[in-house]
Amino acid sequence: MNPSEWFTEIVPGSQSAFSLKIKQKLHEEQSEFQHLEIYETETFGNLMIIDGCTMVSTRDNFFYHEMMSHPALYTHPNPKRVWIIGGGDCGTLREVLKHDSVEQAVQIDIDERVTRLAEIYFPELCESNNDPRADLKFIDGIKWVKDAAPNSVDIIIIDSTDPVGPALGLFSEAFYRDCFNCLSEDGMIVQQSESALFNLSLIGEMRDAMSASGLTHLQTLFFPQCLYPSGWWSATIASKSALKAFREQDSANKPFETVYYNVDIHKASLAQPEFFKKAFLK
Ligand code: SAM
Repeated sequence: MNPSEWFTEIVPGSQSAFSLKIKQKLHEEQSEFQHLEIYETETFGNLMIIDGCTMVSTRDNFFYHEMMSHPALYTHPNPKRVWIIGGGDCGTLREVLKHDSVEQAVQIDIDERVTRLAEIYFPELCESNNDPRADLKFIDGIKWVKDAAPNSVDIIIIDSTDPVGPALGLFSEAFYRDCFNCLSEDGMIVQQSESALFNLSLIGEMRDAMSASGLTHLQTLFFPQCLYPSGWWSATIASKSALKAFREQDSANKPFETVYYNVDIHKASLAQPEFFKKAFLK
């Protein structure tokens, strides 16, 4: 095996790694905020790497983008205003805009270069960027939420990089408190919450920070994501007020195409593994 033909992400804590065979490097740059690389792979299409970590591939991004958006949008009774903090590849934005109830979807990514590269190398993820309901901002999501007025958003989706560098504050109690303050009465957040196998203590700290901020009724959803460490990822929903059951009938009759999400997947993703229950729910 020639290592120069492979991209490898080493996961230090777990002493494991995931590799993809590459055809060629398409792009590399140091933006103001992070190191960005794009590869063409043999079997996963294009691949975006930020600071050495896999972000998005053409082949498997649908798991993540669909599960970061549809479960929350089918849980809120009538989501009209959605913010995506991070999410610069625009895949979550595309999924959010599939919901007719959404009147405004604002994507707030700190790094404009991520979106500009996604437009070139992942055009299918950016196909809804010109939707009149979409608004792309390029500023720090922490500041955006801090400066927001009360009752200005129904769902905040935190589609961030791992909790290091500019994304560190997106996992903090102060940030969640600012989210709480600008959510509407039925409002909720969704945070990408890493791997329950590799990052259980981080998930515990995140859940504590959410609860301390006033957010309640935490629900962690599980889904496959073979590119991310351990191949098994999660998203955590937390609400401003009592969480109602998800709109099962609406989900069953969804008027748009998905690749992974459907009503049965939604139900299944809410099943909690024994070790997770033991850690947080008993
Ligand atoms: N799906 C990915 C994952 O879980 O690894 C996340 C992908 S998305 C491209 C992550 C985005 O978060 C990046 O584009 C990065 O620029 C953005 N980001 C990191 N910190 C941020 C902050 N403080 N405010 C806004 N965006 C931020």
